[in-house]
Amino acid sequence: MKVVVIGCTHAGTFATKQILAEHPDADVTVYERNDVISFLSCGIALYLGGQVKDPQGLFYSSPEELAKLGANVQMQHNVKNVDNGTHTVTVEDLATGETSVQHYDKLVMTTGSWPVVPPIPGIDSDRVLLCKNWAHAQALFKQAASAKRIAVIGAGYIGAELAEAYSLDGHEVTLIDAQERVMPKYFDASFTDKIEADYEAHGVKLALNQKVQSFETNGQEVTIKTDKETVTVDLAVLCIGFRPNTELLKGKVTMAENGAIITNDYMQSSDPDIFAAGDSAAVHYNPTGKNAYIPLATNAVRQGILVGKNLVKPTTRYMGTQSSSGLALYGVSICSTGLTYEAAHAQGIEAKQVIVEDNYRPEFMPTTLPVQMSLVYDPATRRILGGALMSKYDISQSANLLSVCIQNHNTIDDLAMVDMLFQPNFDRPFNYLNILAQAAQAQEA
Ligand SMILES: Cc1cc2nc3c(=O)[nH]c(=O)nc-3n(C[C@H](O)[C@H](O)[C@H](O)COP(=O)(O)OP(=O)(O)OC[C@H]3O[C@@H](n4cnc5c(N)ncnc54)[C@H](O)[C@@H]3O)c2cc1C
Repeated sequence: MKVVVIGCTHAGTFATKQILAEHPDADVTVYERNDVISFLSCGIALYLGGQVKDPQGLFYSSPEELAKLGANVQMQHNVKNVDNGTHTVTVEDLATGETSVQHYDKLVMTTGSWPVVPPIPGIDSDRVLLCKNWAHAQALFKQAASAKRIAVIGAGYIGAELAEAYSLDGHEVTLIDAQERVMPKYFDASFTDKIEADYEAHGVKLALNQKVQSFETNGQEVTIKTDKETVTVDLAVLCIGFRPNTELLKGKVTMAENGAIITNDYMQSSDPDIFAAGDSAAVHYNPTGKNAYIPLATNAVRQGILVGKNLVKPTTRYMGTQSSSGLALYGVSICSTGLTYEAAHAQGIEAKQVIVEDNYRPEFMPTTLPVQMSLVYDPATRRILGGALMSKYDISQSANLLSVCIQNHNTIDDLAMVDMLFQPNFDRPFNYLNILAQAAQAQEA
């Protein structure tokens, strides 16, 4: 069986390893247009902020490791065409310029995503950088050294992390977004009000509810005009979202409106010999039961493994995702899973919400810390649809517990009474998540 894997960051790396584990005799060729694999973009902000000193730690695999496992790894090779009629790919060796045509029995499309770059005048300036891969990380690190003033455009997770990292590193940071709040897709205003106050306390200028209209560069600095004001900085970073990198299969397999490849539960596209995983593919979003585009490494690694398991016959079904994610800003852990109240209503779900703040453990302990919590549920079925937590205490594993609740269709009643340990070092007789769900029960009583 000849397998061709296109793209090798997370989905491609995990798919390749799993294919070789399941089918040691398979002839697996990996084409990757970059010269590195498995770069953890989530480390970019930590590297820029100085928390990660050695960026080589942000790679967990290598072409050599995959080759040792039996893959034929072709780095700096760009796949230019896929002909699913003849089962062939056309590949350019970027080092020599030579092009060849290769046959496949099974094709794995792990081509990922690319940052959205809207056609704004001046956006192609060399002072407007993207933030996605290792090359971007190096450019961002290098240019920031001589950039006192930095604008981050896009206040989603990535922009939020970059703004924090640059502000802690002594830069004057402006965070620009067209939305009225930072990270509105993940958190309600009760959370983002506090996050925004923290940015301002650290000197970050928030330019929210503003659309960028142009960039003008004079070689030294870049002037950004929004519909409300003009900001001049030394460097701008664009992080306004991602789109799937799937032009190779346009018109050849079923795709979502934005180009994400639609797969069945076994990561198989509408062409039975083409599989897709990671940022190139849509996900099954459990809170709504529908397909969605949620480009996260968590999805990429799971879907990559499933490609390996299901390549020859459907074996292991995809569990879907809650889009669980988290970040730490100025020492505060902020995590979310599933739908926000606003997102649920935008999906036509008449969800309800409770917001509770409670200390994570009793006040008689030498220290304790408040935890802000939100729970979104469907009052008709009492099913949990989403939640968020924010605290100086590490609440990330509680967000994971909420994620399991959503995936397992648990109700507010399940969470209110589920057995959780009590010991004053850790929590109260009722864990703070029990208390959150009990508040939802009280609201429904
Ligand atoms: C700054 C940042 C922070 C992030 N933080 C987190 C986080 O904390 N948690 C989390 O879960 N996710 C995070 N993500 C998202 C995560 O990085 C992506 O979801 C993940 O990289 C997707 O992996 P992938 O392998 O599907 O695609 P990609 O990472 O996009 O990789 C696709 C690969 O395919 C190659 N390729 C594409 N087309 C071709 C072609 N035609 N020929 C050859 N090669 C090709 C590309 O060069 C690339 O290497 C973050 C992303 C960024 C940018």
